[in-house]
Amino acid sequence: MRHGYDDDMVNKGKMPVIVRIAALIICNAAVVASAQTQPPAVAPKFEPMSEGTHVLVGDVGNVLASIGADGVLLVDDQYPNTARSIETAAKAISATAPIRYVINTHWHVDHSGGNLYFARNGATLVAHDNVRARMGAEQFMKAYNARIPAAPQGALPAITFAADITLRINGETIQAIHMPNAHTDGDAVVFFRNANTVHMGDIFFNGMFPFIDTGSGGSVQGVIAAVDKVLAMTDAKTRIVPAHGPVTDRSGLAAYGAMLRDVAARVQAGIDAGLPLAEIQKRNITAPYAKNMEGDGEKFIGFVHESLTAKGLPARP
Ligand SMILES: [Zn+2]
Repeated sequence: MRHGYDDDMVNKGKMPVIVRIAALIICNAAVVASAQTQPPAVAPKFEPMSEGTHVLVGDVGNVLASIGADGVLLVDDQYPNTARSIETAAKAISATAPIRYVINTHWHVDHSGGNLYFARNGATLVAHDNVRARMGAEQFMKAYNARIPAAPQGALPAITFAADITLRINGETIQAIHMPNAHTDGDAVVFFRNANTVHMGDIFFNGMFPFIDTGSGGSVQGVIAAVDKVLAMTDAKTRIVPAHGPVTDRSGLAAYGAMLRDVAARVQAGIDAGLPLAEIQKRNITAPYAKNMEGDGEKFIGFVHESLTAKGLPARP
């Protein structure tokens, strides 16, 4: 809401984040070339987390970075029109450090839209195998009835991995770990080991009901499993960076995981009782959480229902 990007592409005013994300994604599908040329009106800024580790928290999405003598590594790079402002923000920390790596947490355009810009300027793009596969072909996001065109070849990750990959830069050990069938089928969580910090991509929407891209192989079961895995790999001092919403800690992630589990169990109870989705959505399942969360609880229940009634896992891209 603070960023001009939203004002350029979406009507002014407070909208639930999921709606804004949907609108932005649809805008990407419809007007890729023309609408993404305006930089944000308010320059984004990296905030220090620990030595060499910085986070840029914004409405468009959160970027975690290692910035130092070896150069810059970014986790996620927002949209094409915000790439330069991310670069400018990194140069405000270290004027001469080149952007050497970008890790995409998944294929969605609000996480990989800067890829072409950064790759053309020398960065190596890194992501899970399925990120490259989905970016390389037109995708249909059924949740938003939107066709997303294939990304240009130059925007596709050059280095891909199946299970995990470790990069070392600025004295930091950075490990990207695949979390199967969570928000999509290509999600990675990215740990900065020395900084004891993890970027969770869209597996974690902090303070909002999550979007689960079931059409891209996502499922609530996978999101819950990923949250449990990260909880098992972290401690009370770990800083946890969601892709959207404020940075938090293990207790914040644990509360989110408990919400997911509770909602999934209640939706499953409705399914077991033979109720159709519309009846399950009338049960006020998300109401206890709504005061602390943005977004559309009923839409979230739809994603959960679709996950729990899917026949097997969706086809790979
Ligand atoms: Zn996403």
